Parts: sequence; structure tokens; C-alpha cells
Amino acid sequence: MNAAYIEAYRSGRLEKALLRATRWMGKCTLCPRMCRVNRAAGNTGYCKTGSLAVIASFGPHYGEERPLVGRGGSGTIFFSHCNLSCEFCQNYDISHGGEGRPVRPEELAAMMVALQKAGCHNINFVTPTHVIASILQALPIAVEKGLRIPLVYNCGGYERVSALKLLEGIVDIYMPDFKFWDREAAKQFCGAPDYPFRAREAIREMHRQVGELVCDASGVAQRGVLVRHLVMPNRVAGTTQILAFLAEEISPQTYVNVMDQYHPCGRASAHEAINRRLTREEYREALEAARKAGLTRLDACNRLRA
Ligand code: SF4
Repeated sequence: MNAAYIEAYRSGRLEKALLRATRWMGKCTLCPRMCRVNRAAGNTGYCKTGSLAVIASFGPHYGEERPLVGRGGSGTIFFSHCNLSCEFCQNYDISHGGEGRPVRPEELAAMMVALQKAGCHNINFVTPTHVIASILQALPIAVEKGLRIPLVYNCGGYERVSALKLLEGIVDIYMPDFKFWDREAAKQFCGAPDYPFRAREAIREMHRQVGELVCDASGVAQRGVLVRHLVMPNRVAGTTQILAFLAEEISPQTYVNVMDQYHPCGRASAHEAINRRLTREEYREALEAARKAGLTRLDACNRLRA
């Protein structure tokens, strides 16, 4: 299976998407924050990012879900800053602190090609929502230099459907988080009361574009949606409702990673409800909710540890 963006490059669709994204940067509405700042002129909004993407690090990663990692690893590129900025972020220095350096499209393209040469199975853009235009600028350069592996859009789920439509036929694998079901929780912990609505709409759109996760004969992902859900203490995430939504309104065959690794980071200590790790019983309850919802494709790591 060819990566989707190869055809988009040949047909001119990639260039059209780039032109539209670049226009949007002049009055940025790439994400639901709708800051309307002129990023093309170097101004910044909520995501603190101007015309160039800031990159914290890149390299093969073996800690992602098995279908992304395979034998060669997932080729992660970590973008700095974030359009969501959760209080409990586990990459706080990168997402809130902006650790990293601005890179031009030519350099971003070179990183992608280097990851492919290193044997990675995919290019995994971590926190890409606010830098869609930079990715689209770099992609044609990378294609001309031989990039062929699938693109993974690894995001927090706080997306505008109209921006996702720019990526149709370009992104192969969407990997959104679905963090909160409840508006109040999303407001308190991410400053985004509309997050639950945006995440539901985004996952519907992603599924419409690429469908359920499809892997090759060796189990490496080629196309589709993979949803991550981080179970939080005291049921603040709304795990039961999120898993039921995925099963009933997306598909029972949605590939879901129900994650148990929550630990307080960033400013989590300021919020009593999330200032501790998850208990074994809370994670057991989450797995039971997935089973009851009828989800049939949980990640291989989704089991109680001894
Ligand atoms: S991408 Fe950044 S500047 Fe643009 S709307 Fe979102 S937060 Fe604001």
C-alpha cells in the first residue's frame, strides 16, 4: 500500500492543501482556539508558535503502540508548544516551556528522510495541530528526496474538522487522544470546555477519511485510526462514556489504547482530584468498561500488570 501523500503530491492536492493552510496562517484559525493572529508575520497566539515549527527532538521511538513500532521503530518528530496545554502534561517542558528550536521546511523534510533511512516504519508527528502548515511545506521536499513511509498524525484531539479536511488523502494514520468527556473537566484541566465536542467531531472525521486501522502482514500499521485514552484518577476523564462512544458511534473495531500510566506532572499538584497515580482498581474498571462497550481491538498492553 502506497502512503496517501504520494498520490496527493502527484495530483496537485498536496500543493492546494499547502496554499490553503498558508492562507489560514495569515489569520490563524487552524485549531478551535481561533486566535486569528498573523503567524505568517511572526505573531503568535495561544500555541506560542509563529511561522516556523519548533522541534524539541526527533528519532526512532520504541515506546509507541506495537503496530507503529514494528521492528524498526516509529519515526517520531516532537513539536514544541501545544494548542491544548493540559495542566498534567507529561512533556511539560516541551508543550508549555517550548523547549526546542525553530526549523525551516527543508530541515524538517531532511529529518523525515533521515528517519526513513534509519529504518522507521512511519513518520510520527507528535503534537502537530498547530504546525500543519509547516508539515505541508516540508512534505513535497521530502517526497522529492524519496520519502515513502506512512504519516502518523499523533494529536491531543483538540482539532477543527475543517483543518482535518486539509489533510484528507495526505495523512495515513490518525492517532488522536480522547482525554475528557465532561466539559467541566476539560475546562479545568485543559482550559478548553469545548474539548469533548471537538474530540468527538474530530474522531468521526478521521474515521471517515481513513477508517479502521489496517496493518500489513507483519502487523505494522499502514492506514486508519488508533485512539488513545489515558485513564485518570477519580474517574475525571469520563472513561466509560468515551469508550462507549468509540464502540457505538465510531466502530466496535476501533483500535484503542486504554492507558494506565497516568502520574501527576506539570501543574497537576494544584488539583487534588488528579494529584495521585491511578489505582489498580480504577484501571480494572476501565478495562471492564471497554469490554462492556463491545470494543474488540484493545492494544496488546491493555491488561492488568501482575
Ligand atoms: S494553531 Fe495556535 S495560533 Fe492558530 S488558532 Fe490554534 S492556538 Fe491559535
